Amino acid sequence: MNAIRTFRRTFIGGYMKIFDEGWSKAKQRMKTAIKPGPGFDIGWDNPNMPINNYDIVIIGGGVMGWSTAYWLMHKVPRKARGKIGLNVLVVEKDPSYTRASTVLSVGSIRQQFTLPENINMSMFSSHFIRNIREYLSVYEEDPPDVQFNPQGYLFLATAEGAEQLKQAHDTQIALGAKVRLFTKRQLEVKFPWLNTEGIELGNYGMENEGWFDPWLLLMALKKKAISLGVDHCHGEVTDLIVEAKPGVVEGRLCKRLTHVKVKMPNSIQYQNVKAGHFINTAGPWAQDIARMIGIGQEDPMGLDWELQAPLPVEPRKRYVYVFHCPQGPGLDCPLIVDPSGTYVRREGLAGNYLCGKSPEEHEEPDAKHLEVDYDYFNETIWPKLAHRVKAFEEIKLRMAWAGYYDYNTVDQNAIIGTHPIYDNLYLANGFSGHGIQQAPAVGRAVAELLLDGEFKTLDLSRFGFERFLRNEPIREKNIV
Ligand SMILES: Cc1cc2nc3c(=O)[nH]c(=O)nc-3n(C[C@H](O)[C@H](O)[C@H](O)COP(=O)(O)OP(=O)(O)OC[C@H]3O[C@@H](n4cnc5c(N)ncnc54)[C@H](O)[C@@H]3O)c2cc1C
Repeated sequence: MNAIRTFRRTFIGGYMKIFDEGWSKAKQRMKTAIKPGPGFDIGWDNPNMPINNYDIVIIGGGVMGWSTAYWLMHKVPRKARGKIGLNVLVVEKDPSYTRASTVLSVGSIRQQFTLPENINMSMFSSHFIRNIREYLSVYEEDPPDVQFNPQGYLFLATAEGAEQLKQAHDTQIALGAKVRLFTKRQLEVKFPWLNTEGIELGNYGMENEGWFDPWLLLMALKKKAISLGVDHCHGEVTDLIVEAKPGVVEGRLCKRLTHVKVKMPNSIQYQNVKAGHFINTAGPWAQDIARMIGIGQEDPMGLDWELQAPLPVEPRKRYVYVFHCPQGPGLDCPLIVDPSGTYVRREGLAGNYLCGKSPEEHEEPDAKHLEVDYDYFNETIWPKLAHRVKAFEEIKLRMAWAGYYDYNTVDQNAIIGTHPIYDNLYLANGFSGHGIQQAPAVGRAVAELLLDGEFKTLDLSRFGFERFLRNEPIREKNIV
């Protein structure tokens, strides 16, 4: 059975692609396309197991994985999708997503970044979220609704931080973002419940900002991608296998991955899944995937110096607290980001609020478990909230949770593109607390890079891994 599928994919699928894309493009693709090879077939046909030949394997089925899978299929003509055309597999080790960053996120979106790439990505994602029915509706199913709540962020700055806030504002305006600066006096008029002590300036989002339900976005992307022909399996990628002989691409020595080892749940079976391209969307665990092929490992001979640079992503624990305050600000309450980094926003309209703060480097909590530190709320967050909004002096903490940021330890920015040594390994990692909102734009960018060979809509080349080799980090100043 697998042999028949392999034949159909390789020969009939290849023919369809030639027909759809034109000869030269298809020829290019076929050069890198997988060929059926012996030795990877487990020899029996279990419907829960992935078949063993794919064009693309996506490692990690969080929002990045499913967004990428969706865009890959969206970009190819209908008759070149799935089965006899482009074959994409998403491998996810925990389909209940108990620890995935995506479902533990607070799902907020803002244009208020300092880097043009981040501003552009969020502006596109905002368009995507607002028009989600156009993008993700599935035939004969209810249209998706991610419960988008439009509401601006309000970034507050002291006298010391005012110049940086203004510069960020100017960059955002130049790119078409809808933001407006408020002086201290203007803030007092617009938000009379806000204590402006120590505040010089505020930047307020008039459009393209708010929050939505991350679980609903994940499910909508997944459902749509599956409807377009993406395969998925429940299993853990435990190893990546590299082709024995390195090759030369554009004068550079490159290695190629040939297949992944997938450990199936409740089974001692491993399945070897062969593919032409691999995408690392393993979120906070992206570095574990990279380590499987020696990325970041010491090489005493110094031969593969590009392999010595690690993928600088690690899980960092972040707390979210929900409190009740019947007298708190109402419908006009923006998502406030205090100069201390503490943020707070409404959760519905019944006097509930959600808040948090990224700790200072020396306060980083132990990321081995996801227990919540309530002292952090009482001692660090609440005093800041009560100072900024008097009504928050009297509150009742209702619940809290912790989740992992997929934290880029070098510059807190996305890492997007191929690895310099493994030219068929694509990275979409390190989003450091802004990945949910960037997912629609990142999925599209990775799909462009893979299918077109370059970024077509937004140039994200500055986010390539090479910046770590050159020691040229690009810093985002507005990290929350
Ligand atoms: C508390 C909190 C608040 C946040 N708030 C926001 C916000 O307001 N706005 C915003 O834009 N972003 C926010 N984020 C960040 C955002 O959630 C993440 O950047 C984004 O979800 C990353 O998505 P991902 O798909 O890369 O990672 P994940 O959602 O973690 O998905 C990775 C998946 O890979 C799987 N996986 C890992 N290893 C393997 C393996 N070996 N084999 C198979 N599968 C594997 C995991 O099980 C997981 O499901 C927040 C995050 C947290 C924790």
